[in-house]
Amino acid sequence: MVEKLQQNRILWLSSLTCNGNSHSLLNHPNLDLLLQNIQFLYHPLLPSRYRLKEVIQNSYECEILVIEGSIDPTLKINGVKMIDVITRYSSIAEVVITAGTCSTFGGIFSRSNEKASGLHFREEKRTEDFKNIWQKSISLPGCPVHPDLIFKTIQMILKGLYIDLDECRRPKIFYGWTVHDGCNRNEYYEYKIGHHRFGEMEGCMFIDHGCRAPFTRGSCNKILWNGINSKTRAGQPCSGCTEPDFPAFNLWETKKHMGIPAHAPLGVPKRAYISIAGVAKAFKIERFEKRILKKGSAVEKKH
Ligand code: SF4
Ligand code: SF4
Repeated sequence: MVEKLQQNRILWLSSLTCNGNSHSLLNHPNLDLLLQNIQFLYHPLLPSRYRLKEVIQNSYECEILVIEGSIDPTLKINGVKMIDVITRYSSIAEVVITAGTCSTFGGIFSRSNEKASGLHFREEKRTEDFKNIWQKSISLPGCPVHPDLIFKTIQMILKGLYIDLDECRRPKIFYGWTVHDGCNRNEYYEYKIGHHRFGEMEGCMFIDHGCRAPFTRGSCNKILWNGINSKTRAGQPCSGCTEPDFPAFNLWETKKHMGIPAHAPLGVPKRAYISIAGVAKAFKIERFEKRILKKGSAVEKKH
């Protein structure tokens, strides 16, 4: 996407945010390695060269601008409109990364604030304000974004590697597949077996509990959280946090018409899904008919 950068100064600006993406980055096991390779001009939580006030009042040279949080044109910090600070630094930086769903699509803040949006999108709809920097933008949605996606994207930029992006400017290497890919409940999904209880390891949550992973792009079941787990592996449905329509309403409930999920897996025509589901359901898979684990057997202490 860009030539190898000559320097590696990163400016992390927070707009309307809970700072979840800043905190997420702190969870990266190799954060010290990242900090050896880059310099934060400013980050809300990590050692930085400047204070926020200095960043707002000046125009420092930086190679990468990371934006966290929804952009509300009326939001002021230290008396300065944050949108003006973002505009100024986005013209200086060679690459602009939106970290998290709020800065990418508007996210949770845009649901209650009609002025708030992401850098280039308000949900699916393209916005106008920053169209001049579209070509140098990379979207890393997630609520929060997985720390490894920030880490690896920055590493790829620093090395001058080509990053293939989708129509929302998400790197395909992370967002080219769905979160369903890699879930350890796929056998249950194949045969349309629900019988899921929250927090337990058996059953597919797409059948009754609103799992949005089959139409949510991301790597949660391939690049695991804390290196060990994901929501769906742990027994909580995916709530689709990397997609433009996040947060959806009626989470954890599969909306159905005539017993068929209203939302088919990504790219699968509804008619094809109904046919396949009908065939799969016709099989009685004895192995899954009764529960494999006794309730609590994996977690309770044996006395
Ligand atoms: S629980 Fe969700 S991610 Fe896992 S197999 Fe079912 S639909 Fe896919
Ligand atoms: S499993 Fe779904 S809701 Fe959870 S972090 Fe991944 S994409 Fe977001």
